[in-house]
Formats: sequence, structure tokens, C-alpha cells
Amino acid sequence: MLVLGIESSCDETGIALVRADGAGVPVLLSHALHSQIEMHQAYGGVVPELASRDHIRRVLPLTQQVLDEAGQTLADVDVVAYTRGPGLAGALLVGAGVACALGAALGKPVLGVHHLEGHLLSPFLSADPPEFPFVALLVSGGHTQLMRVDGVGRYEILGETIDDAAGEAFDKSAKLMGLGYPGGPALSRLAEQGDPAAFKLPRPLLHSGNLDFSFAGLKTAVMTQAKKLGDGLEPRKADLAASTQAAIVEVLLKKSITALQRTGLRRLVVAGGVGANKALRSQLNAVCAKAGIRVHYPELHLCTDNGAMIAMAGAMRLQSGLQQATRAYAFDVKPRWPLDSL
Ligand code: ATP
Ligand code: MG
Ligand code: FE
Repeated sequence: MLVLGIESSCDETGIALVRADGAGVPVLLSHALHSQIEMHQAYGGVVPELASRDHIRRVLPLTQQVLDEAGQTLADVDVVAYTRGPGLAGALLVGAGVACALGAALGKPVLGVHHLEGHLLSPFLSADPPEFPFVALLVSGGHTQLMRVDGVGRYEILGETIDDAAGEAFDKSAKLMGLGYPGGPALSRLAEQGDPAAFKLPRPLLHSGNLDFSFAGLKTAVMTQAKKLGDGLEPRKADLAASTQAAIVEVLLKKSITALQRTGLRRLVVAGGVGANKALRSQLNAVCAKAGIRVHYPELHLCTDNGAMIAMAGAMRLQSGLQQATRAYAFDVKPRWPLDSL
């Protein structure tokens, strides 16, 4: 079974082909990505209307590229999977519209996929895929959640952010420091030259006793610190970046360990853009190695949005029998869509 995946929930157009044979882990044949980051940078954030228009330009050429690379044609595609939500409505409509039009033209069924399920299952695209059950730390630009995952579609949310997401905390702090958009990766690079103990920043909800997160206060503390420094910020920027990163990473680390202890599970999966963060990875690896816990990540380039994770999630849902692809080509999208409602 050849599954074409289409991702267009925000500012990345991602297309991929995976092959799923029997019950084995589906295999990625090819994938292509166009990031709109440069286009949105001038505005300091994603402009929804521009995002939709750019997806329209990219989807079909990228689809052709992916087919060519895999030595396949549209006629070989068995199912078209697309991101149904959550995300920007107009952007989602582009991927859904193209997917359903392709399906209708080819007489092939389509499947709407949950974007966060894509992130969650993206470590199955790596050479060393995880096994169920596991605790998942989903840390992206819009979400921060700890989950117990017992299988495809079996997700129990153990805790989540009550305000900003971890990626948002990175991005908003980076913006305050003039590091551009989205500033998470830049902040993390700068942090490598700084002292993580230079500034005392809050670790919100660290001792809350539950598995929820809160990052809004941290961003405010970073802003206060930056204002206090005034003209003196420039030479201390790396220290402030390192201190900010240390605060975010410490909370993510502690809560993940608590989730593992409470569930008694011995396996952790980290997914979403912030999962690319080096400090988070090295600290999690060190703590988990000591505790005998296996940690799985997506490959670095598949942490942020991509089509491979959508094709993968679609293929795994079909394999699990949880969802049938449909030839009803009327579609809707779900800009808001809680993962545990799946
Ligand atoms: P969602 O999936 O919740 O809808 P999204 O799709 O925008 O949100 P992702 O693509 O998973 O989110 O991740 C993007 C986020 O990851 C951004 O906030 C970005 O700054 C952050 N990010 C990417 N790389 C790093 C890094 N190395 N360190 C810290 N943050 C990073
Ligand atoms: Mg993005
Ligand atoms: Fe995402």
C-alpha cells in the first residue's frame, strides 16, 4: 500500500510517500519540504493568508518531485493522507482540497490525519523505532503535552500547558532578544556560548505536583531581565539565552521523569520541533541512561512539520484498522482538534 502524505497546517508544505506492507513499520520512500519561514520573517510571525497562497503554489510541484524521486506515478498511489487539523484553517483547506481532488480524480480513497498524531508517530520514521507503550513528550510550537501512549489512537493526556507552549516560550524569548522568527533554533545556538546559571529565571509549575506546564511567566521574566539590562543586553545575550533555555529544559526534563515514574513505563518518546533542541536531548539522554529508560526521537530534520509524519500516521492508522480511508470526497478541516478526542 502506497500512501501519499500532504502537510499544510501552518508554514511548511510537506509531501511524502510511504509504503506499508502487512503489519510492519511503514517505510519512507521519499519526501520533500518547502518552508515559508523566510517569507514570514519580515512580519515577525506567520501571516495566514500568505501561508495559504504559498501552499497552493507548492503542493503539486512537490508532489511530482516526491513521486519522481520514488520512481512512482500518481496512478501507483493507493491512499492520499492529509492533515485535517489542528492548524490554520485556510492553510489546512489547501492540503485537504488538493488531497480530495487527487483522490476523486484517481478514484483513490483519502484519509484526514491529526497533525499532532503525525508528530507523535514521527519517531517511527527513524532507524530505531519505539515500541508501545511509552510516555510521549510532545513539544511543538503550539503544544506541550505529556501523554501515555498504548498504541495507535490510544492516547491519554497526563498533563499539558495551561498557557504558552515550549516552542512559543523559545520563540517569544528569542523575539525579545532580537533573534528573529521563529527564534527557537537561534536562541539555542546562542545559548551554547552562554552561562545557563547567569540569570535566575522561574521554573513555572516545577513543584506543582501535577504534570501540567506553564511558560507565560517565564517569557515575562525574560522580558523584565532584558529591560533591566537595557543597553547592557547585547554582551549578556548569550547568558540570557542559556538561562532561558535552561529553565525550559529543566521543567520539561523533570515532568517527563515524573510521568515515567507515575506510569511505571520504561520508554520515552520526544516529538515536535523543540525535540530538536540539543540541550534537551543531551540532558534527557543522561538522566534516562542512568535510570535505564530508552528515549526515542524523530530524526532531527523530521522534528518540525513535514509530510513524512502525515503519511506515516495515515499508514499506521490504516494498518491498525482504526480508520478507513474514504471515497466520500466532501471534506472539512478542524483548526482546533484535541488529540485525545481521536
Ligand atoms: P504545532 O505542531 O503545535 O501545531 P508547529 O507545527 O508550529 O506547532 P513544530 O513545527 O513542531 O510546531 O515546531 C516548531 C517549533 O519548534 C518552533 O517554536 C521552533 O522555535 C521550535 N524549535 C525548532 N528547533 C528548535 C531547537 N533546536 N530548539 C528549540 N526550539 C526549537
Ligand atoms: Mg513551522
Ligand atoms: Fe507541528
